[in-house]
Amino acid sequence: MTEAELQASSITRHHVTRSYRQQIAHSGYYDQLKYIVEPSVKEFDSPGAFDTSGEHDNTVLPGLQHKYAQTGLLLVTNRCASYCRFCFRKRLVGRESDEIVPDVAKVGEYIGGHPEMTNVLLSGGDPFVLSTAKLDEILTHLLPIPHLNSIRIGTKFLAFEPNRFDDPALPAFFRRIRDAGKTAVLVTHFDHIGEISVDAERNIRSLRAQEVQFLNQSVLLAGVNDNPEILAATFAKCHQMGVRPYYLFQARPVKGASHFQVPLRRGSEITRGVNQRLAGIEKTFKYIMSHYTGKIEILDVGDDGRVYMRYHQNKSPDKIGKVFSRPYTETACWLDDLPE
Ligand code: SF4
Repeated sequence: MTEAELQASSITRHHVTRSYRQQIAHSGYYDQLKYIVEPSVKEFDSPGAFDTSGEHDNTVLPGLQHKYAQTGLLLVTNRCASYCRFCFRKRLVGRESDEIVPDVAKVGEYIGGHPEMTNVLLSGGDPFVLSTAKLDEILTHLLPIPHLNSIRIGTKFLAFEPNRFDDPALPAFFRRIRDAGKTAVLVTHFDHIGEISVDAERNIRSLRAQEVQFLNQSVLLAGVNDNPEILAATFAKCHQMGVRPYYLFQARPVKGASHFQVPLRRGSEITRGVNQRLAGIEKTFKYIMSHYTGKIEILDVGDDGRVYMRYHQNKSPDKIGKVFSRPYTETACWLDDLPE
């Protein structure tokens, strides 16, 4: 099939960096890690939606989402270093999209008028596909905003192409954020310990010395990391490098990618198994379903056959923190699979 035919079937393009190919080939985990980037025929027969978290409905300006009061989410590019087969933004990554911010100055004006917004997350795609000069330009519109405390950047470059962070222009970029009195936070995306290379660790340590804070988010993926040993080892390694395990995401029911979903009962068991293997200081993650209605922490499936959850984030602050439950149905993978 041609690239155009694949795109017409909503199949994400296939592209893998040479360094990631080598890393996974020599990791000892190739048989699991190949599913992250290698296409599968399952993608043709994997039902779901393209916008599972209501991103479109929370877009306030082209390229800017404002779902939760304190956070602005900017889509700064539609490209990534390599393409994950499970990507929840496959509607836009690696293809033409009108969801990418066309005018950062307008975004800056919007944020300037919203004092409740204390942090912005640059996402996409992967912001580090942009040149450092381009990223610097984005900062020009964000750093003067007094109520922004942090500039967060979500990136899988530390797995896909860690040498991007050898760029000699980056220390000045992060220094600018610091000098503006804000915190630079990099949110890495390691799903598996086999993705963490020597170069990734070297760059993380060097950036930490420049006062960059690190968090890691992972996606729970059938056939890749649905194993408490692997996830515990991944989070322990993150902790050792100074990267705080932050979210373990339930894979979303994305068209062409829902075969990666793990049932909620199994996901809860895995989460328990991970917690049983880690020291208190390492288990700083939450098992999260990023649903249309908000970020839901999945707590457990109880002996009474109900799934217990609570809103970690919601548009209505009064819903945050309250535990609620739904009857569990076998193979349910998402809130909408659970009867009211
Ligand atoms: S790096 Fe993130 S945005 Fe890019 S393809 Fe992977 S999941 Fe999607």
